[in-house]
Amino acid sequence: MVDLKGQYAAIKERVDASIQEVIETTAFINGPEVKAFQEELESYLGVKHVIPCANGTDALQIAMMGLGLKPGDEVITADFTFAATVEVIALLQLTPVLVDVDPVNFNIDIAALEKAITPKTKAIVPVHLFGLAANMDEIMELADRHNLYVIEDNAQGIGSKYTSKDGTKTMTGGIGHVGSTSFFPSKNLGCYGDGGAIFTNDDDLAHTLRGIVNHGMYIRYHHDVVGVNSRLDSIQAAVLRAKLPKLNEYNTARRNAARKYSAAFAGVEQIVTPTGYCNAGNTICDTCDCHVFHQYTLRIINSDRDALVKHLNDNDIPCGVYYPIPLHLQKAYADSRYNEADFKVTNQLVKEVISLPMHTELDDDQIEFITKTVIDFVTK
Ligand SMILES: *Cc1c(COP(=O)(O)O)cnc(C)c1O
Repeated sequence: MVDLKGQYAAIKERVDASIQEVIETTAFINGPEVKAFQEELESYLGVKHVIPCANGTDALQIAMMGLGLKPGDEVITADFTFAATVEVIALLQLTPVLVDVDPVNFNIDIAALEKAITPKTKAIVPVHLFGLAANMDEIMELADRHNLYVIEDNAQGIGSKYTSKDGTKTMTGGIGHVGSTSFFPSKNLGCYGDGGAIFTNDDDLAHTLRGIVNHGMYIRYHHDVVGVNSRLDSIQAAVLRAKLPKLNEYNTARRNAARKYSAAFAGVEQIVTPTGYCNAGNTICDTCDCHVFHQYTLRIINSDRDALVKHLNDNDIPCGVYYPIPLHLQKAYADSRYNEADFKVTNQLVKEVISLPMHTELDDDQIEFITKTVIDFVTK
């Protein structure tokens, strides 16, 4: 699905040298590399504060802790996403409220979101799923009207630019009150282990978050709030510093591969290609940067998705089903308040979606082999 070795070859010299330097200086935790990466990411995202942490799941949890959410507060998120989002809501004894997604862009459905808001609702967690910005204008408008926090789960969307109705472009993760990301190796900006970060433009919240990641300490050995231990280590920061200057190039390579896939699939009636919308008014982001294709995900209709998965595996083509089970049907998150009729889209998508190999090193021959194998199978 990803080719991290090919990507490493192009940055090997810098990565090796900076890892070596971390070892020489032994500044393994909170060393200068972490601080430098933090500043470089702030500048890249155009966000005032980046708080590095240990992984993307922690980032979400710390964001919710920093906002002071309390047990019983309702937090709304999408039914069709990775479990980390709902997991931390539940861990903090907040009440997860899952809602359906939009069949076109796979992101949280605005009408369903609005319907789910109650007097107990305190926050919304939009996920920029597969790398496509969620409809932040409408989400922020709803949040303003109902006095809710917005926590952007940007683990799959780093580098994506959201175009507002007024034409302004903002990097995802810096639009809501707080944003989070993951540097898991296969993410668009991945390190060589675990890593994550939290973003905010709010000075007070940033101060709170910096304490929470460090055992609730603002002054050494003075624990003012309950915190956690969640750090980005210096070796990972060194890797990320080598990769951040290439992130736009990486995302362009992903977008180009996505365009080639979609061109090959055009007109095949069993296949729905990703046609996420954005407010620039286009259908597949040819003119804007709202999709960074963390995944290239098709819907297979009137054909057998599971048989296609097997066929691709038999032909040594990696593929993935993200995600095979709606969160509201997972044992850990099932809730008698949920009504199947409210999850029509997610229930359908889990049977139709398939993600094809997507990374920065895909070449034309690979894309041709993959698309031909898929098309031959679904049209036979
Ligand atoms: C990867 C991911 C996370 C979790 O990140 P980790 O670094 O693996 O903890 C959270 N949310 C989404 C949408 C993700 O894709």
